[in-house]
Amino acid sequence: MPIVPATPEAIAQAARALARGEIVAFPTETVYGLGANALDGAAVVKIFAAKKRPRFNPLIVHVPGPAEAETYAVFNETALKLAEAFWPGPLSLVLKQRAGCPIADLVTAGLDTIALRAPAHPVARAILAEVRLPIAAPSANRSGRVSPTTAAHVASELDDAPAMILDGGPCQLGIESTVVSLVGATPALLRLGATPRRDIEELLGHPLAVAKADSPIASPGQLATHYAPDTKLRLGATGVDPNEALLAFGKDVPEGARLTVNLSESGNLQEAAAKLFGALRTLDRSGASTIAVMPIPDHDLGEAINDRLRRAACGDTSRRASDQT
Ligand code: AMP
Ligand code: MG
Repeated sequence: MPIVPATPEAIAQAARALARGEIVAFPTETVYGLGANALDGAAVVKIFAAKKRPRFNPLIVHVPGPAEAETYAVFNETALKLAEAFWPGPLSLVLKQRAGCPIADLVTAGLDTIALRAPAHPVARAILAEVRLPIAAPSANRSGRVSPTTAAHVASELDDAPAMILDGGPCQLGIESTVVSLVGATPALLRLGATPRRDIEELLGHPLAVAKADSPIASPGQLATHYAPDTKLRLGATGVDPNEALLAFGKDVPEGARLTVNLSESGNLQEAAAKLFGALRTLDRSGASTIAVMPIPDHDLGEAINDRLRRAACGDTSRRASDQT
């Protein structure tokens, strides 16, 4: 398995692999990404093949900052304001493409919009600085499954599909970027994520519109079943059965579960977000009949955590076959 520590040499090697049209997994502050040169359709198609991702699900393009982003997308005042406040960081902006935008159609699923983000993780930034290409990068997991927050998670999901898996340790935030569309009249929240909705609304001075699940601009990441382990989830658990595994939160944890993982004993939502996907993987392997999930406060990052848990809890495995990433 090509897991390599993200040394400067390995980063240079990864940049060369990307420039050659290969796919490379690398850490970002949200989750591990599976990257390809966004200008090269033949490279991007490898991402879809490795993830078994439906082709109509567009990818986020990673760039160093607003200057590069503006070469592909039309930035209005709101876009600049949000990029200035939250980049580099876990906010993806959906914008109108510039005329003649050279990004491969497969990246944008043939839409006239593009999702852009400047990641904050030093390894992701070093790759972007070295490769000098826009990098399309969804999460480095099989479509519909739990996102990877360590290099080992990537290896267990994608085998040897990536040319390299750069190991930069566990992801600091552990939950995907917030996706905001600036294409309509009002900025719209397409996906809850690691930038809390409230922070964005405070900056804008008004609430975000929320895209309906069936609207054409809705992010596929908003689909009902997503981020799903094999074991079914029982949300809002206040007690636990001996056959169940328990995803706990806070101090007052019911006893008697087959296996318990506490997202944060002190009730810290940031810590909980960072541990969420790893905890789901651990509990999924416990052999429990069900993963019972304690209630998690629905504010700040708790909103995105509850969003992922609802999607993980929804639907059976057969429905997941048609899932998005
Ligand atoms: P992932 O790559 O798995 O983190 O998911 C990327 C998210 O961004 C998905 O929910 C995509 O649907 C969304 N996205 C990417 N590009 C666009 C776009 N042009 N318009 C709307 N949503 C987008
Ligand atoms: Mg994903």
